[in-house]
Amino acid sequence: MHGYIHSIETMGTVDGPGLRYVVFTAGCPLRCKYCHNPDTWHIENGKKMTSEEIMADFEKYRPYLRSGGLTVSGGDPLVQIDFVTELFELAKKSRVHTCLDTSGTSFNTNPERVKKFRKLTQFTDLVMLDIKHIDSKGYKDLTGGNLDETLSFLDFLEKETKCEVWIRHVILKGYTYNTEYLYKLGYHIGAYKNIKALDVLPYHAMAVNKYENLGIEYPLKDMKEMTKEDAIKARSVIEAGMADRIQGNAARY
Ligand code: SF4
Repeated sequence: MHGYIHSIETMGTVDGPGLRYVVFTAGCPLRCKYCHNPDTWHIENGKKMTSEEIMADFEKYRPYLRSGGLTVSGGDPLVQIDFVTELFELAKKSRVHTCLDTSGTSFNTNPERVKKFRKLTQFTDLVMLDIKHIDSKGYKDLTGGNLDETLSFLDFLEKETKCEVWIRHVILKGYTYNTEYLYKLGYHIGAYKNIKALDVLPYHAMAVNKYENLGIEYPLKDMKEMTKEDAIKARSVIEAGMADRIQGNAARY
């Protein structure tokens, strides 16, 4: 089977544990206002590659990737779930650590859909789950998508799989950088035992030029960038929510 691939990075350092071979798939149904990769949105812009071709290329770099493995990011990899499943199955046959970097978009409890996710997660070691906003309306406004898909995917991961989960969350003023939302995020994820790490990322306006080149208006033109210090503060609020949940305290909001 072939997939549509936007690009491949052979020495990724921020896409899972250790050094990673990162496959960025083409296609994403969301339109996050801060998206750094608007050039990945359309599946038809990707280059066709088979999973065998990708694994053959992976093998060239394998000596450097011993502490890491294979990550599939995007776009959103779930747009091409059958292809990613096949790729991860091949990777696991070669004893390669597999990581799925996704927002959980397109997950739902339709039995046929769940069957596909069961198959994919059987070959997935780690899911880096991007929870873009913890409020349904805020999520819709920020991404155009549906928060339920992300949260029910998280539920599914805990109840039905052995995948480890790392949570990612981008903070930006006027959207997610808000004490109530951050605390609620922490209180929500505090209920899950499969979550092993939390990454709070400050918003950067790195993609402005890409938008200009693509002739798309950048939705956050006047948005101020966030700092590492902001991320540290946000993290402590999320952790307070998690601690309350773990200790059985009532939610503050
Ligand atoms: S999910 Fe990722 S690729 Fe898709 S719009 Fe959001 S930031 Fe961009």
